[in-house]
Amino acid sequence: MSASGSPSAAPAGDAVARLPEEWRDVMKARGQAAYRGGQVFKWIHQRGVVDPAAMTDLSKDLRRTLEAELDFPVATEHVHHAADDTHKLLVRLHDGAPVETVLLPVVKGQVDADAAAADHDEDDTPSGTTRVTQCISTQVGCAMGCIFCSSGIAGLTRHMTPGEIVGQVLLGRQQLREGEAIRNVVFMGMGEPLHNFEGTARAIELLTHPDGLGLSPRRITVSTSGLIPEIAQLGERFEGKVGLAISLHQPHDARRSALMPINKKYPLPRLMEALRAYPLPRGRKITIEYTLVAGQNDALADADRLAKLLRGLRVKINLIPMNPIEASKLGPPDPAHVDAFQRRLKQAGYLCFVRRRRGDDVSAACGQLAMIGKKPNRAFERRQPKSSD
Ligand code: SAH
Ligand code: SF4
Repeated sequence: MSASGSPSAAPAGDAVARLPEEWRDVMKARGQAAYRGGQVFKWIHQRGVVDPAAMTDLSKDLRRTLEAELDFPVATEHVHHAADDTHKLLVRLHDGAPVETVLLPVVKGQVDADAAAADHDEDDTPSGTTRVTQCISTQVGCAMGCIFCSSGIAGLTRHMTPGEIVGQVLLGRQQLREGEAIRNVVFMGMGEPLHNFEGTARAIELLTHPDGLGLSPRRITVSTSGLIPEIAQLGERFEGKVGLAISLHQPHDARRSALMPINKKYPLPRLMEALRAYPLPRGRKITIEYTLVAGQNDALADADRLAKLLRGLRVKINLIPMNPIEASKLGPPDPAHVDAFQRRLKQAGYLCFVRRRRGDDVSAACGQLAMIGKKPNRAFERRQPKSSD
């Protein structure tokens, strides 16, 4: 893993992950004009075309050569349409592993709690366009073991390649309806993006490349359970421009370890230091995600402790009532209690949203669809911390 500002090479065989300069080198090595490489990159990442036969400004010979190489690493298996316009794609990777990605059209007049935490998320989308936020996965399963999360309970199968990660956005674009455009990408699907740091960083480089989709880095948010060295690397590599979301979930150090085992390795006081050191641009905020789990972290005393912990940091807080999962008896507090928790944080002066569940009729909690029917594959000890002193 490198903390340098320069991108790493695309993994061998992952043609979708190549940057224009790498495509140019490939073309030169084949005796082709280098600019052909830039054309291929544009076809894939700007126009979303992965079938070389459709790359009409390339010679027939070159198209044929590319056909063998552009083995697109992902395929849409199912699309679930929810009543609220959310689409959820079950995606198969080349080895048959399932992951998921969700498209969430931004409802007009509603604050987009998932978008990067700009103070004023100015809308530069052409009028008549519906902004869509896409939530993408970075791993098959997850090694972090959070006890309320189906991916964590299942454990890690493998990292996704950068081509597979960005391939979800290419597939997502195929599902857009008239007038829709992907404006935000959030790394909040299955997996811990910073555990797959190189895959995540390369995917961001591809998504933000001006010859590709050209997303602004501030429209990308990486959510992490708190991998401290990689938070610093992300800040360094993208100069703080990429939005950061932290899955905090419990302001008491020992109790956080019971919910999220990663806290034993990277305890809260050190995580707070890492957040203070993140090179956050002016006017931006770190998103604090807080999944409310009944009896685990939902006492009003927890809200007070959280308010104290975050004092002095530029943050907004997203409360997420826990989506019940098959593998656990844990669940959300009742809605009135969620409101009371939110009120408490607002009274303490914080910008605080409740992330309403969307796409409920398609089991839409991030990280859940691909796990349906999957049994936990390792022993898993559930601890029952108290929720206040
Ligand atoms: N691994 C990263 C990103 C993926 S999870 C992370 O943990 O930040 C995206 C968010 O959904 C995280 O805040 C995660 O804690 C939360 N989450 C996981 N399982 C959930 C569940 N069952 N209900 C509600 N939120 C959940
Ligand atoms: Fe992994 Fe995030 Fe789930 Fe924790 S909440 S197990 S870090 S995907």
